[in-house]
Amino acid sequence: MSTNSKKLNLIAEKIRKCTKCQECDRSNPAPGNGNPEAKCLLLGEAQGQRELEEGKVFVGKAGQLLSNIITACGLDRDKDLFILNILKCRPPNNRTPTPEEAKNCRPFLDLQLKVISPKFIMCLGACAAQNLLGEKTPITYMRGKWYDYNGAKVLCTFHPSFLLRQPDRKKDAWEDWQMLLREAGLQT
Ligand code: URA
Repeated sequence: MSTNSKKLNLIAEKIRKCTKCQECDRSNPAPGNGNPEAKCLLLGEAQGQRELEEGKVFVGKAGQLLSNIITACGLDRDKDLFILNILKCRPPNNRTPTPEEAKNCRPFLDLQLKVISPKFIMCLGACAAQNLLGEKTPITYMRGKWYDYNGAKVLCTFHPSFLLRQPDRKKDAWEDWQMLLREAGLQT
C-alpha cells in the first residue's frame, strides 16, 4: 500500500468517527475513491442514497453519468482520478450541505488535498466550486475559467445531477472537460 493510501485511510478513520453534523446520516460515510497519487481530482457535493449504501462517491445515477463522461474523455476513473465530496456524509432529503456542515467537514477535505496534492481540481457543481474557492458566484459564471487553490489549477463545471435535469447543458460541460484535458496533458 502506498504512503498516500495509508494516510488517506487514517483520514477516513477520522471521518468515520466524526459526530459533528447532527442532521446528516453518518452511518456509512464516503471519504473518496480513486488513485491517491492522481494528478487530477474531482470534487462533488455529498452522498446520495446509493453512495450512503455503498460508502463510495458517485455510484448512483449522477455517478453513472460522471463515469460516462470520464470514459468519453479517455480516462479511467480508478487510475487517472481521485474523486471526493465537500461533505462525506448524507444530508437529509438530498439537500445541499449547509455552510455549517461544509465547515465541519472542511478539515477532512484540507487534509485529503494535502496528501493527494493534485495539480488539477475539477469542481462539479456550485456547492463544490463555491465552498472550495470561497465564492458566491453562480456556477454558470464560474465555469470555463481557471482558478488557483494552493497551487492547484481549479476548473469548475456543472454537476452531473444538473446535467441529468438539463441535458442541453452537456455541450458546455463537455467544453469544460476538454479544457481540463488540454491543460493537464491528458488528451488521448
Ligand atoms: N453527488 C455528489 O456530489 N457526490 C456524490 O458522491 C454523489 C452524488
